[in-house]
Amino acid sequence: MTITSFHPPQRTLMGPGPSDVSDRVLHAMARPTIGHLDPAFVAMMDEIKILLQYVFQTKNELTFAVSAPGSAGMECCFANLVEPGDKVIVCQNGVFGGRMKENVERCGGIAVMVQDEWGSAVDPNKVEEALNANKDACLLAFVHAETSTGAQSDAKTLVELAHKHDCLAIVDAVTSLAGTPLKVDEWGIDAIYSGSQKCLSSSPGLSPVSFSQRAAEKIKQRHTKVQSWFLDLNLVMGYWSGEGKRAYHHTAPVNCLYGLHESLVIVQEEGLEHAWSRHHKNHLALRAGLEQMGIDFIVPKKDRLPQLNAVTIPQGVDDADVRTRLLNEFNLEIGAGLGGLAGKVWRIGLMGHASTQKNVDFCLNSLRAVI
Ligand SMILES: *Cc1c(COP(=O)(O)O)cnc(C)c1O
Repeated sequence: MTITSFHPPQRTLMGPGPSDVSDRVLHAMARPTIGHLDPAFVAMMDEIKILLQYVFQTKNELTFAVSAPGSAGMECCFANLVEPGDKVIVCQNGVFGGRMKENVERCGGIAVMVQDEWGSAVDPNKVEEALNANKDACLLAFVHAETSTGAQSDAKTLVELAHKHDCLAIVDAVTSLAGTPLKVDEWGIDAIYSGSQKCLSSSPGLSPVSFSQRAAEKIKQRHTKVQSWFLDLNLVMGYWSGEGKRAYHHTAPVNCLYGLHESLVIVQEEGLEHAWSRHHKNHLALRAGLEQMGIDFIVPKKDRLPQLNAVTIPQGVDDADVRTRLLNEFNLEIGAGLGGLAGKVWRIGLMGHASTQKNVDFCLNSLRAVI
């Protein structure tokens, strides 16, 4: 059998990620590969840092993209900030809080869990109780935008609580970055990670991260080596900010970074505030259409994410059948429920480049056709 070139079908991606990648970003990724220590490439990396500082709304020096997907950004934050024996308050209101617990434990830390219903925001009162009951905790970790449920938590308030109790705050912003208001410096977030493939609409495979001065200090004062060589920030930073004498650490995913650069330029052109309000507007349009069809959201109105809409599957409708038909007949991908929500909800993404009125109409019309 002769295997020939792979040509993917043309889909519209309205699931939990990856989101649709624009032609501009795809074309950027198809440009010639150059050496990752080439001065031209190094200059582009410096621009990526400036653009990431803009989308994160931060002046943090320690801001760059980890050469791996969002999950690696998560590992990077925990591996560097958690030392064996460290106590970490971890908020769980969906799938990704559970992964934070895994990360803490694999770093030898002790995770103290604060549980909320799936579909609810993290409850600041429970977090404060946990902080009061665990005076020796040194970190608070939570997910800003829970992609498994579509709930948004009040990051500003949670970070304030962490600081009041002398804890640093680690925030998962994989789905929130560029889709919903997020202000790293104003809110005082100490360590944050995101992904290239959600509201930035670049290809999967990169994880923007940023660390405050306080976080950098904690990392410098570690008693033990970071257990991951690849993610050890002391080594990675020599690569991202070597001041002209950039040292080889690993080979950067060159073309993937072209894509991230282009996607960030697009956000800058639109303006971050405009991107946030576009996501909000399209969410309201989708909501109006779904409500007309009798489809409800699982998250209370005030906590809903505009870029990830978790909605209940109407009675008597076959979950997998609908999603298969959307894919086969309309080339449209929407997401299934995860964990306890499997078979109960659909997750409709309106992320980045895919957050358009056209996609809202297309999704509503396609759903009407198959239900
Ligand atoms: C998608 C996602 C991740 C993981 O990102 P990958 O790029 O899939 O590794 C982590 N946290 C949240 C909230 C996500 O939505």
